[in-house]
Amino acid sequence: ASSIDWARVRADFPVLERQVHGKPLIYLDSANTGQKPNAVIDTVDDFYRHHNANVSRAVHTLGTEATEAYEGARNKLARFLNVRADELVLTSGTTFAINLVAYSWALPRLEPGDAIVLTRMEHHANIVPWQLVAQRTGATIKVAELNDRGELDLDQLYSLLTPEVKLLALTHVSNVLGTVNPVREICREARRRGIVTLIDGSQATPHRPLDIAAVGCDFYAITGHKMSGPTGTGALWARREHLDAMPPFIGGGEMIKEVRFDGTVFNDVPHKFEAGTPNIAGFVGLGAAVDYLSALGMANIEAREQELLAYATKALSDVDGLRIFGEPVEKAAVISFLVEGAHAHDLATLLDLEGVAIRSGHHCAHPLMQHFGVPATCRASLAFYNTFEEIDAFVAAIHKVRKLLA
Ligand code: PMP
Repeated sequence: ASSIDWARVRADFPVLERQVHGKPLIYLDSANTGQKPNAVIDTVDDFYRHHNANVSRAVHTLGTEATEAYEGARNKLARFLNVRADELVLTSGTTFAINLVAYSWALPRLEPGDAIVLTRMEHHANIVPWQLVAQRTGATIKVAELNDRGELDLDQLYSLLTPEVKLLALTHVSNVLGTVNPVREICREARRRGIVTLIDGSQATPHRPLDIAAVGCDFYAITGHKMSGPTGTGALWARREHLDAMPPFIGGGEMIKEVRFDGTVFNDVPHKFEAGTPNIAGFVGLGAAVDYLSALGMANIEAREQELLAYATKALSDVDGLRIFGEPVEKAAVISFLVEGAHAHDLATLLDLEGVAIRSGHHCAHPLMQHFGVPATCRASLAFYNTFEEIDAFVAAIHKVRKLLA
């Protein structure tokens, strides 16, 4: 057990003090988006109040301050992820990061006969861009399936990695089941076969120590809003050789060195991929989020969330007729479940009246729902700022609501 005072940490998140329908808010939807600490909110506020200017354009003082704050955030994020800052493209989130790889790396390269391997547990953000690329290039998509515990069937996955496969794209952590995939081993196997790898890190970065260099992938996508940062922030890390070879995806200002009507010289990597005015305040806020998480320590955050997960899993297992989806050996603090006789949305709606915020639906993972043969699940996702008392209240609310629905 760490010496962190988690009650004090929780007090850093002002929204957690509010009430919903006259009940204290119990926020169990952090896999959807995370709440923001004062350190982040104040940093964004301070930027707009005292430093607001555009980046990389103006020589005046505010312009310099804004550029330094924005590039400073890139440096912080790079250190946090253990990658080089000049290999980190700042994007609006994971969705944009994956689309950047789809359009700049895959589209010019893939040909009829090539294949892309995805997994059954991907978020739509790591499926649809590849379908669009496949349609335009004639490449095909192959799917790695799951075992009974909701983990990847590694033997089946490796059997898919045949010579026509050019890319393997998979999530680090499932946003529905919480499954933590052994990405290091998987990337090693792919690399041995000359297959390029993309990891969707949306659900990993907020919850566990991460060393992208050690993962051994080619591309790693993250989103800022799930890791205590503002919405509209994220990043793509890519090996320099890929970034150098990739043409820009979006054209405009900031991403050029010289524009002539007979030809344009692009800016250096990573700026080549950052056309237009970015979400400057958002990234400055993300820098503050990285500082905040680093001060707590990602290992401490992981340990805290694992305790909450074990406690919640035990409590939910005692509810009659409640089924938890997936029981992976390595699992992040996400619990998907259904209660017999209750529709997911009805349960979530009634829980909201009790102040409990969970998500219900397909969680942008239709193929995974198809695997389980259900249209929707309820999902409670935990973060370090949740408490054991909240879990007790959540489970009590389920008992109460169940009676109403029965
Ligand atoms: N992948 C996974 C696994 C996710 O959980 C999410 C967010 N729900 C995304 C991708 C998409 O992230 P964003 O909407 O921030 O781009």
